[in-house]
Amino acid sequence: MPWKKGRFRIMSGALDQIDELTKEPKIAYFSMEIGVHNDIPTYSGGLGVLAGDTVRSAADLMLPMVAVTILCKKGYFTQEINDTGWQTELPFIWEPSKYMELLPHRATVQIDGREVSVQAWFYNVVSLTRGNIPVFFLDTDIPENQPEDREITAFLYGGDKAYRLKQEIVLGLGGVRMLHEMGFEIKKYHMNEGHASFLTLELMNRFKKPIEDVWDEKLVWDTRTVRSLCVFTTHTPVEAGHDKFPYDLVSQVMGEIIPFPVLKELAGRDNLNMTMLALNLSRYINGVAKKHGEVSQSMFPGYEIHAITNGVHSFTWTCQSFKKVFDEYLPGWANEPELFVRIGRVPDGRLWEAHMEAKRLLISLVKETTGVDLAPDILTIGFARRATAYKRADLLFRDISRLERIGEGKIQLVYAGKAHPHDEAGKKLIQNIFRYKELLKDKIKIVYLKNYNMETALKIVSGVDIWMNTPLRPLEASGTSGMKATHNGVMNFSVLDGWWIEGHIEGFTGWSIGPAPHELTPGADADARDSEDLYDKLGNTIIPIYYHDRHTWIRMMQNAIGKNAYYFNSHRMMRRYVTEAYIR
Ligand SMILES: *Cc1c(COP(=O)(O)O)cnc(C)c1O
Repeated sequence: MPWKKGRFRIMSGALDQIDELTKEPKIAYFSMEIGVHNDIPTYSGGLGVLAGDTVRSAADLMLPMVAVTILCKKGYFTQEINDTGWQTELPFIWEPSKYMELLPHRATVQIDGREVSVQAWFYNVVSLTRGNIPVFFLDTDIPENQPEDREITAFLYGGDKAYRLKQEIVLGLGGVRMLHEMGFEIKKYHMNEGHASFLTLELMNRFKKPIEDVWDEKLVWDTRTVRSLCVFTTHTPVEAGHDKFPYDLVSQVMGEIIPFPVLKELAGRDNLNMTMLALNLSRYINGVAKKHGEVSQSMFPGYEIHAITNGVHSFTWTCQSFKKVFDEYLPGWANEPELFVRIGRVPDGRLWEAHMEAKRLLISLVKETTGVDLAPDILTIGFARRATAYKRADLLFRDISRLERIGEGKIQLVYAGKAHPHDEAGKKLIQNIFRYKELLKDKIKIVYLKNYNMETALKIVSGVDIWMNTPLRPLEASGTSGMKATHNGVMNFSVLDGWWIEGHIEGFTGWSIGPAPHELTPGADADARDSEDLYDKLGNTIIPIYYHDRHTWIRMMQNAIGKNAYYFNSHRMMRRYVTEAYIR
């Protein structure tokens, strides 16, 4: 049987590797989505890309880590946009065996009263430093499972509440059981967002004390030990981002993993709140930027919330032409982004040439995909991120005639981003951009690139001249695309929220939009105030510098790299997680 033989050969290689990996205790990083590779559609946006950067930096730094996620065999969707700008979603079918190895281990979870088998695919993130981090993609598409159970790990954020609950059972309970089955000893569990917090319930049962050892029944639950093992990172101040499940649904789908009175004490009285569960069972809790830490602290009084500001993986998010320059002038930069402090050694001409090369690549991508010719010498503004209301992709168009006056012949715009399939308001935003694109087509060129993913993201963040972000404060927990831009000498022009509060030095690393961050959460006039400042700075500061003061512009490009990329990278972030969360 040649098929079997081939399969066995591959698996025995993977098994040897896993054998080797289990020799040392690990930190287990759990995330609903991990963007390990552009063509593996197991990420939807910021959270998944950050998880990928976490794993990539962990590999570079040779941290003892394993990662666990969900397979999503039908992926996050392929974006179609029709002529009227309306988004529709097509499945993104991919073949896991092209990238990963199926392992023979099995874990089981109870779902709807049935035993559901879980298998795992092994993807090895290998660094140039020879470090490597195994990522296990959990999968229920196994013949012995009922047809509907085989679909549990098919879609990322698809389906209804019950579907989501089932996925989180597979991730949390299935993930811990799978690691155990493989023989891993885990010294810390890191929950990247509340989706993973069912892992705490498995630990609760594992560290339960025998009833005869304790005088009060409640004391069988060793929450202290569970807490000492868990780290929780919360990622959003948007209420809908925190999963909540009604207890009757929980009881029907998951059953009584631990007694309901105990569960309710940990996860909330009325609904099972995944964030609450993680908060109650983690010793270290953090937000993803300093401001977000404070916002989370006020959302969750009574818990001690720290902050570790996000970063991006420098090597992944630096385009080819900048890599070449950095290699020449700052050798070793990729594994030691602190070397960006010496960016002043790069001659201005080289920096500008590298930028123009990236800009030309973006212009050819735009030509190929939309047929539109952008001009290399026009100030190009980029805006690409998930299309959702609070990010206000259309803020720039609030006063069309003013925008025309300021920008005609002087700016061109590159947009991209997917709306979540159920986010009608997000889809309308895309449609609005399409409308403005038509409306302004003789005056300001606007393009909307479909299917924003890691590959197009790199081309856009490196190929524009400035990167704009206009979230409604304080809803942008961190934001990471602006950090990617800085790695390519692209300045940010953004609302003071998330990471930009920390990275912004006016007129030096970039420009702010709207009021200072300490001003209270803006009211109904936020759009008016923010757009006023946006037009003012664009017309009176940014456009004049770009066209008339190239020297200052290049100084600012240097500062973006030397002050922003220097700090907002995932190597710095992971070192913080190690010293503040993992080894304590
Ligand atoms: C970096 C990235 C994001 C996150 O960008 P934000 O600025 O945090 O919104 C989303 N999607 C893709 C494909 C990315 O590469």
